[in-house]
Amino acid sequence: MTTIRSRLSLARSDSYGVLLLLLLAIGAWLVIDFMHERDRIVAERSRLAINKSQLMNRAFGDTFLAADYVLRDVLGRVHMGKDLAYPQPDAEVSARLEALLKEKVITVAGLTDLVLFNGDCVFAATANYPTRGTKSRQRFCSDGRVEPGQSLHIQYMPPVNSASARPVVLMSRTVGSPEGVLLGGAMVVVDLEYAQQWITDIEVEQDDVLALVDSNGTLLARNPPLPEAIGLRTSPPPNEPSFSQVEGSATFTAVSPIDGRERIVGMSKLERFPFIVIVGFDAARVLSGWQHRAWQFAAGYIVLSALALMALRVQRATRRQREEMRQLANTDTLTGISNRRHLVDIADREFGRARRYSHPLSVLMLDIDKFKTINDRWGHPTGDRVIQALAQLTTSVIRGQDLCGRLGGDEFALLLPETDSAGAQLIAERLRTRAEASGTVRAEDGTVVRFTVSIGIASLSPEDASFDALLQRADKELYQAKQGGRNRSVLAANIAA
Ligand code: GH3
Ligand code: MG
Repeated sequence: MTTIRSRLSLARSDSYGVLLLLLLAIGAWLVIDFMHERDRIVAERSRLAINKSQLMNRAFGDTFLAADYVLRDVLGRVHMGKDLAYPQPDAEVSARLEALLKEKVITVAGLTDLVLFNGDCVFAATANYPTRGTKSRQRFCSDGRVEPGQSLHIQYMPPVNSASARPVVLMSRTVGSPEGVLLGGAMVVVDLEYAQQWITDIEVEQDDVLALVDSNGTLLARNPPLPEAIGLRTSPPPNEPSFSQVEGSATFTAVSPIDGRERIVGMSKLERFPFIVIVGFDAARVLSGWQHRAWQFAAGYIVLSALALMALRVQRATRRQREEMRQLANTDTLTGISNRRHLVDIADREFGRARRYSHPLSVLMLDIDKFKTINDRWGHPTGDRVIQALAQLTTSVIRGQDLCGRLGGDEFALLLPETDSAGAQLIAERLRTRAEASGTVRAEDGTVVRFTVSIGIASLSPEDASFDALLQRADKELYQAKQGGRNRSVLAANIAA
């Protein structure tokens, strides 16, 4: 029985473990699934960001292509030597050049000036600003050397260095001698206001960003506009390729140093010019739907887990209560051993089994000798203690497979499976002598009260129709034991001890 009970409790703790494992597995699956979903959304947005930056790129690149076309055109109409002298001795040349520049500069939107410079980098002719005679501050001017033939140079010029005192991008075509000496060139000025206007006209959603940077990472234009940041240098996060390394397009997710918001960024480089268009989608907005779902699932998961655990607890408590009630219904309250009902239940089962398999089975019936006298002399509570003492003594004598029960009053029965009459007699005698030797309790006044027992023994015989018949035979022998003088055990064949 003990094994059955421990197996039951093992199953109960198992059910907790299984439920916890199941909940853990579901939780892990949800987390993995949601992380995949997040990755998928970010990847999709990254693609979208790149696509959008490429589209913008194409539109913006057209301006530079057109500007370059103007530079080539102008250079084709100018004599590198005499036309670019400064000061220009020939007023006619000056007028012709100025007219040419004025005519060309208006052909491309966004150009604020068109300039011709000589080998000393001095502006020989200009279309708009009165900057003739100014020495250009472009990089190749201080380098002193250029590529032989024509080459293109693009440079951001902050207001402090720009002749117009405005942030501009300078795009120049230089003409170099075969030895690399600068002979002169033409330059267009793109006011960044134009780029800013262009980028501002493109619609952006809340907290998204569009930006135009050069290959050094200098911010040239931004939407939403941020004038104080124009001209500042930015860079991709440390583990991403720098702007100058970007070829074609790239994507990453990063926190903006400007406003601290995380963005999914796609960028692409203009095909022939050192400009990069950046499209940044606000990660929080893009992922808000996903986040909302994730919270919903997490809350649902927590509630369901709590409910499942609670249900299991309730089920366990109910089972425990049922078990306790069953135990209570089977137990004699005074002694804690089985009561008559439980003993008879088990005995009926054992009887059937012994019968079926022709196994031996014995029963002992015990009764305290002169118990009424103990009650009368020492009081009922002492009598109760005697009953308890006998229960204890009996349980200490029997083996694991045996069952001891109180039938009522001072009467006990012992069920001994797999025990023949000889074995039963041995046990009965052991019990009887134990009671005789150490069957004592203390009365209220401290007096040691001794007691003895009489025992009737019956072993299963083919004539026994039921356990009750077997018990009646034991009872008959008990009567014999009493008749025989008490403190003795009698086996069903009238063999007195
Ligand atoms: P015998 O040797 O022939 O058995 O004599 P006896 O006096 O023991 O007689 P019997 O077995 O008939 O007595 C049973 C008595 O046990 C009757 C009743 O007063 C007493 N009794 C029954 N239940 C309890 C109980 O729970 N507590 C106590 N203290 N006494 C009980
Ligand atoms: Mg008695």
